[in-house]
Amino acid sequence: MSAPTPLSSQPYVGRFAPTPSGYLHFGSLVAALASYLDARAVAGRWLLRMEDLDPPREMPGAQQAILQTLERYGFEWDGPVVRQSERLDTYNRVIERLLERGLAYPCHCSRKKLQGHAGVYPGFCRNAGLPLEGAAIRLRVPERVYAFSDRVQGEFRQQLGREVGDFVIRRRDGLIAYQLAVVLDDAWQGITDVVRGADLLDSTPRQLYLQEVLGLPQPRYLHVPLIIQPDGHKLGKSYRSPPLAADQAGPLLLRALRALGQQPAAELAGAAPGEVLAWGIAHWDAARIPHSLTLAEAQLR
Ligand code: GLU
Repeated sequence: MSAPTPLSSQPYVGRFAPTPSGYLHFGSLVAALASYLDARAVAGRWLLRMEDLDPPREMPGAQQAILQTLERYGFEWDGPVVRQSERLDTYNRVIERLLERGLAYPCHCSRKKLQGHAGVYPGFCRNAGLPLEGAAIRLRVPERVYAFSDRVQGEFRQQLGREVGDFVIRRRDGLIAYQLAVVLDDAWQGITDVVRGADLLDSTPRQLYLQEVLGLPQPRYLHVPLIIQPDGHKLGKSYRSPPLAADQAGPLLLRALRALGQQPAAELAGAAPGEVLAWGIAHWDAARIPHSLTLAEAQLR
């Protein structure tokens, strides 16, 4: 196999990849806006991918509602929406190959058996040679540090073996894990730049390892601060966030711009969403994004 072309020499391709377990909320708007502006400011492409891997946790109507909100807020994506639910064969084929290569293995540990291990898999099934039937599939991780330089958060490193342990790539019930699907799809869609919420910062080393074993290029990463509630929780499904109001698109986009450290002109008050986005593209400066993992919603202007 020839070495992948360095991504830095390729035209920018970004993406927004919502999970349809709920409506878009202000935190997801901030992430969508950052990825959109970062792409469009360099005349890059911006793709939309539904991460609908978990039907039991999908909220009925959420996919439609997310697309409608994005449209009403003036976002324009390139090409058709990709749905992960349509790519299950691909993910399963890759899992087969990882099993054949001995890089992954079947695991029969119950949740109960794993209690008290602080989320780090202790490797019970690692060398047990158990049957595939009814098993989760775990990826063997090395005792090595995986590090990368995030465009906003700076250096981030993780010793995968010690801090994460062998992680699940397919659940016992057959559901494909986010970590595997995101890496395969980012590569398949030619994504050069991943811009997303900082809740995924500590997933990134797992994704770097997957890219390494699968021979896939490593995109650049930019993790924007997560918008949190006064009690420290992230905005989202647990709060049953209502859909973003269609008639608030302009003001909420302005608020999201300010959350990203941009300084929208005062004249934009009352502007239509398209105008706010056009201003955002023309003035985008990723260096102004707060170098912080979280921002309290209550403190945003
Ligand atoms: N689907 C993930 C989410 O909604 C985002 C995944 C990503 O951007 O890598 O939180």
